[in-house]
Amino acid sequence: MSHDIVVVGGGPGGYAVAFRAAARGLDVAMVEEAEIGGTCLHRGCIPSKAVLHVAEVLTEVNRAESLGLRLRYEGIDGQALSAFRDDVIGKLHKGLEFLARKRTTLHAGRGRVVRGDDGELVVEVTPTGGGETTRVAGRQVVLATGSSPRTLPGVEIDGEVVQTSDQALWFTTPPERAVIIGAGAIGMEFASMWHPMGGQVTVVEALDRVLPLEDADSSAALETTFRRKGIEVLTSARVTGVTVDGGSARVGVEVAGQERSLDADRVLVAVGRAPNTADTGAEELGVVDDRGFVTTDAYGATEVDGLWAVGDVRPTLALAHAAFAEGFAVADRIAGVEDVRPVDHVHTPRVTYCHPEVASVGLTEAEARERLGDDAVTTTSYSLRANAKGIIHGSDGSVKVVHAAGSPPTGAPGDGGSVLGVHLVGPHATDLIGEATMATTWEAVPAELAAITHAHPSLYEAIGEAFQAAAGLPFHGH
Ligand code: NAD
Repeated sequence: MSHDIVVVGGGPGGYAVAFRAAARGLDVAMVEEAEIGGTCLHRGCIPSKAVLHVAEVLTEVNRAESLGLRLRYEGIDGQALSAFRDDVIGKLHKGLEFLARKRTTLHAGRGRVVRGDDGELVVEVTPTGGGETTRVAGRQVVLATGSSPRTLPGVEIDGEVVQTSDQALWFTTPPERAVIIGAGAIGMEFASMWHPMGGQVTVVEALDRVLPLEDADSSAALETTFRRKGIEVLTSARVTGVTVDGGSARVGVEVAGQERSLDADRVLVAVGRAPNTADTGAEELGVVDDRGFVTTDAYGATEVDGLWAVGDVRPTLALAHAAFAEGFAVADRIAGVEDVRPVDHVHTPRVTYCHPEVASVGLTEAEARERLGDDAVTTTSYSLRANAKGIIHGSDGSVKVVHAAGSPPTGAPGDGGSVLGVHLVGPHATDLIGEATMATTWEAVPAELAAITHAHPSLYEAIGEAFQAAAGLPFHGH
């Protein structure tokens, strides 16, 4: 029996293809060697957000006295924290399993794409837990095998003292002294988790700023807040070696021409993720580039007829919601839907759940200036210090709008130039980015956006205020 689609990998990319294809009436098989939900649900986005929520509650508890609350904090109950985190995963996993069983034929095993005897693609499945290899045939095959943490040459991951994000989330006792190598999304999120729990944290970043892919002003704002909280941030720093002795490690770092040695009871290596293409059959089919990614067209089709790829195996944004979008596009193309648009990665929101949160969509100021020229771009910023909810939250933050430069704005519709990018730092930035995503995707102009009534008091009115200022009509800001 041949399915319409066989999906290899049941993470966000894989199950997005499967569920959308099933909704379009196609017959789908899904091959997953571990659990439906992938890295996002079982080792990444979801458990990390659960633990970050605990850290956020603790941050509020730490300022309870200034809020007029007399609380006594007696420490972390690691077992209860783990139970909370596992309960969140468990509830979501149960729902996903139910949907996957209802909508697809599930195969528990490791899939590998090969050419069958007739030259058609088939997926060889080696059952999880052993047994005979079987073959699952499909008219189309989608690779959605995800990614794994990258490591550093010469740095051994022992899983105890030196860890990647695969191990670091499962702590029951937070580190007393942590060194985090890499100030990308994972590094900044773990720093935000461990620091409020009492750990001394040092972040070591090779480039000259934290979250180097974000707008430079977001990086600077986050770095300032981290330093103020007491998180040490070393940028333009080179790790020269990591040695482990018993339960502790020493990390050698070269920064500004000086050698430093940092002692730690936990070292997190968070230097990016590498695509899982080895042993999937993709290399043998000739669709893997020299960095290990699957090469596709804008819709996710590889050069091999009938073979597609979505999610972290592609060199696009390694974000679950980017994988969802890629999955929907592939399923729609296979289903023959007309006018499927390729995923617009520029207008895909980027979100980091550090404290304060950072989120953005569209172009950074530097990208906009490079693409359009200095004269064609301007920016408007609004501080959460002028926002009532921002003050109540006690958190710094800002909204920065990158927009096309109009002639002096007068507030007329079309004035102020279209919005090219929005960059948020502050509480709930990862939720507030929704309105900004619509604004940039629809190429709205600030004056149109300024005319939308925002609830008061609210955090999101800060975005409305930034658009008002960008239209030349500043209200509470200046
Ligand atoms: P990343 O690519 O976002 O950041 C890695 C950082 O490590 C970079 O800043 C890089 O310059 C730095 N680095 C590389 N080598 C180094 C070295 N030798 N010494 C010091 N610094 C070094 O990767 P990540 O943070 O590991 O995350 C992996 C992927 O998962 C990313 O694509 C990320 O977007 C995604 N992710 C997203 C979220 C989120 O959206 N909230 C959360 C976690 C992970």
